[in-house]
This record gives sequence, structure tokens and C-alpha cells, in this order.
Amino acid sequence: MTDQNKLTDLKKSAKQLARGSRIAHHEALDAIAVACGQSHWNSLTSAFENGWRPSKENETAVRALLEGGAEGQIPLDSEETHRGEIDGHPYELTLGFDYVLLGENGWCIHLGHAPSEPPTIEKYKACPIDDPAILGRALSIAKEAADRVRARISSDWPRRSTKPDAQGRVVHPLWENKELASQWFCLHCDAAISGKQLAENMWHCPECSATPIDIFSSPFWKEAS
Ligand SMILES: [Zn+2]
Repeated sequence: MTDQNKLTDLKKSAKQLARGSRIAHHEALDAIAVACGQSHWNSLTSAFENGWRPSKENETAVRALLEGGAEGQIPLDSEETHRGEIDGHPYELTLGFDYVLLGENGWCIHLGHAPSEPPTIEKYKACPIDDPAILGRALSIAKEAADRVRARISSDWPRRSTKPDAQGRVVHPLWENKELASQWFCLHCDAAISGKQLAENMWHCPECSATPIDIFSSPFWKEAS
């Protein structure tokens, strides 16, 4: 296993933890970092750049964390991996439950579930995506894969969650309560969001990219208790 794959694996573990434990992705990244003896994710990545690598004990701690948050956890075999080449430069493309990773040693493009969330591009050395033409091709391959991941997720959702009715009303894709509403609210950033915007953005907040579990039909957190 190469060094770079170790960082990619930690990111995959964070995705899996976020999904399994229903916590925000950034919280999951921090939890993984703590399991690796770092104070938070940013300190883990800076340590990584300075040569730190997860030890066997760190990897065991990460596995224990994932098993602890196993409820509703996605099986690893829900991932699909392809290998390809762009102008002779090899890459690996991973389609996860709700994310896409495309990269090779030294570089990585990550796309999440929300169409509003810009791709994250990471480079650790001079690499093929320094060439804008190759980066463009890599981004379009990753985006096409992300569209497939999104289509797969929304195929399990009620039709009314992705297609507003004549009054612009939609139902939440995950809540049992199938209440129709045209106006929704983000618990994370307080944004008021239309049903149409949510349908177009896979139920992620268009302002802060919070996940569907942060979206509610009333801002109950603002109500006087
Ligand atoms: Zn938000």
C-alpha cells in the first residue's frame, strides 16, 4: 500500500463513519483524526504532509470507531472501483455510497453527494493534474461518476422528493412523515430553502451543503421553548 492510499483510506473511513453514525462529514473527519492521535482533521493532513503516517494502532482505532458506529453502516462492497488512463496517466475511480474519489499517488479529486458542493482537489507533489487539460478531463470523469451515484441514491427516494408539485411542494426523502411543503429550513445555517432548490440539490442545503438530515419543514430550533 502506498502512502497516499493511507490518506485516501482515512477519508473513506470518515465517509463511512458519517453515513453510519449520521454525523456531519467534518465531524467524522475530526473523529478519525482523534482516533489517529491528532487533534483534528486539519492537523492530521498537515502532519501527513510532514511525513506522519498512521500506525497499526491508529488503524485499529479507526476500525473500532467504524464498528462502534455500525448501525446503518454501508458495507464496503457497496464501493465500485475502476481503473483508467488520461493521456497515459493512470487513475483509480471509486464510486462510494454518496461520494466519488478519483486519483492516483500524489493527487485526488473528491466529489460529494451535493451538486452545490465544489470538487475538492488535493495535490501532494508535481502530478499529471498540474496540466489544466488533464485536470479538466479528470473533473469531467469524476462529475459523470457523481451523477451516477446521485441517480442511484435518488432512485430509492419518493418521487415527490425530487419533483415538486404544481405549488412547488416536495416531501423529505428520508423522514417517515411525508409532509408536503414548499419552504424548508437548514438546521446548520438557518437558510430558508425552496422545495425546488432542494429537489435540484439532492436535498443538501444550497448555502452550506449540509446533508438531508439537517433539512426540516419548520425552523423548530428558533421557536421559543
Ligand atoms: Zn445550510
